[in-house]
Amino acid sequence: MKFYSTRDPSKRVSFEQALFQGLAPDGGLYIPEEDLQLQTHFKALDKGTSFHEIAALVSAYLLKGEVDGGAVHRIVKNAFPFEPKLVVMDDNLSIVELFHGPSCAFKDFGASFLAAAMEEFLQHSDRKAVILTATSGDTGSAVAQAFYNKKNIQVVILYPSGRVSPLQEKQLTTLGGNVLALEVKGSFDDCQAMVKKAFLDPEMSAAFPLTSANSISLGRLIPQSFYYIWAFAQLKEQLNQEFYFAVPSGNFGNLTAGLYAWKWGLPVTAFIAATNANDVVPQYLDTGIYSPRPSRLTVSNAMDVGNPSNFERMEALFHKNRHLMRALVFGDTVSDPQTLDTMRTVKDRYNMDLCPHTAVGYAAARRFLRDNNSAGHVAVLATAHPAKFLEVVEQATGRTPELPPQLAGLASKEKQSIVISNTPADLFKTLKDVLL
Ligand SMILES: *Cc1c(COP(=O)(O)O)cnc(C)c1O
Repeated sequence: MKFYSTRDPSKRVSFEQALFQGLAPDGGLYIPEEDLQLQTHFKALDKGTSFHEIAALVSAYLLKGEVDGGAVHRIVKNAFPFEPKLVVMDDNLSIVELFHGPSCAFKDFGASFLAAAMEEFLQHSDRKAVILTATSGDTGSAVAQAFYNKKNIQVVILYPSGRVSPLQEKQLTTLGGNVLALEVKGSFDDCQAMVKKAFLDPEMSAAFPLTSANSISLGRLIPQSFYYIWAFAQLKEQLNQEFYFAVPSGNFGNLTAGLYAWKWGLPVTAFIAATNANDVVPQYLDTGIYSPRPSRLTVSNAMDVGNPSNFERMEALFHKNRHLMRALVFGDTVSDPQTLDTMRTVKDRYNMDLCPHTAVGYAAARRFLRDNNSAGHVAVLATAHPAKFLEVVEQATGRTPELPPQLAGLASKEKQSIVISNTPADLFKTLKDVLL
C-alpha cells in the first residue's frame, strides 16, 4: 500500500518510507492512499480469532509488496508478546483493556509494532536509526520499552523535569542500554519544540539518522486499529444493535486508528471522542470552529493536548466536512470532578480501578447511554493501567491500586538521566557528546 501527506497527495511513499520519515517533508501527516476492503474478513471473525491473526491479516495488506509473509509474521510475533483483554460490565458496556503491555498503556501497541517493523527493515541493510522523541509521560515509556535492545537503533527521549509522575520517570530512565533519557529543565512544549528543531536542522540530520516515534508516526497509528477489530470480534455474538467505541482522547491518534478500521469496513455505528477540559475537538464538532489553545492541566494528564496533531488526519478522512465527521464522531467533555467521581463510583460498584483517562471515556459512555435510553453497546478503551496514576487513584478512591508486575520492580531501580536546559543548542551538544 502507498501513503501520502495530508498536505500533498501527489507525493506517494511506501510504508517503510512513512515509517522512517515520521512526519512528511512538507510538514503533513502520512495517510493511507486507498481504503482497504476488509468486509469479507470482518464477517468471518469470531471470538476464537486471535489478536495475532487480526494483526497479521491487516499488516499483510499494509506491507504488501514490501516484505514477504514470513517478515509480516515475524513483525507481529515480535511486536505483540502481550494482548488486549475484554471485560464485559453489562449488556451495554464493556471495557477493552489495552494496558497489559510492557509500559502498561495502549501506546505499547503502536510503539511495539513500529519498533518491530523498523528492526525488520533495518536488518536487511546496514542502516542505523536514532529515535528522537519528546514525551509528557506515556509516549516515552512505551517507546523506551518497545525499542529497548532493538538492533541498530538508538533511542533518545526528552521529558520535562518534575512534570512526569515518579513511576513514569522510572520507566523512562531505568532501562539504560540503547535508551538515553534527557531530563529537560522546561515544559513538554519546550521538549517538543527542541525535537522539531533537531529534525529541521541540516547539521543534525547529517550527523544522525534521526527518526520520530511519536503519535504522528503512521507506524504507531495504524497498529492501533488492530484492537478495534479484535474487540468487535470478541463482542460480535452479543451485538444485536448499535455498536460504539468510547475513546479517551488527547492527540486523537487512538481515535483516528478506529476511524481507519471503520473505513475498512468494521461495522461501528459511531465513536465517542471523550476529552478532558482540553476539548478543542468536541468544540469544533459543536460549533464548526477549530481553535487550538495552550493545554490545560487536568487529572488525566496524558490527554492534556491543546492542539491535537491527528486532527489533520481526521479532516482528511472526512474531506474537511464537519457534517460527515459529526455523523461518525460524537464529542463529549468530562471535567476533573466528574472523572474522580467516576473512578470512585466504578470502584464502589464493581470493585474495579480505572485510570483517570479511562474514567473520562467511561463517564462519556455512560452519559451517552443515558441520553440514548441504553440503546446499543459501548466498548470503552481502557488506555492505561490505574497503577500508573497512583496519586489520582488514591485521591479518587482513598485506596492504593495494586502494582502489576511490569511496574512493581521499578521503585528500587536507579534513575539514569542527563539534565539539560530547554534550548535546541544544548540538545545538539549533548547528542554530539554522547552519541558521536
Ligand atoms: C496518550 C494517551 C491518551 C490519548 O491518546 P491519543 O491517541 O493521544 O488521543 C489517553 N490515555 C492515555 C493513558 C494515554 O497515554
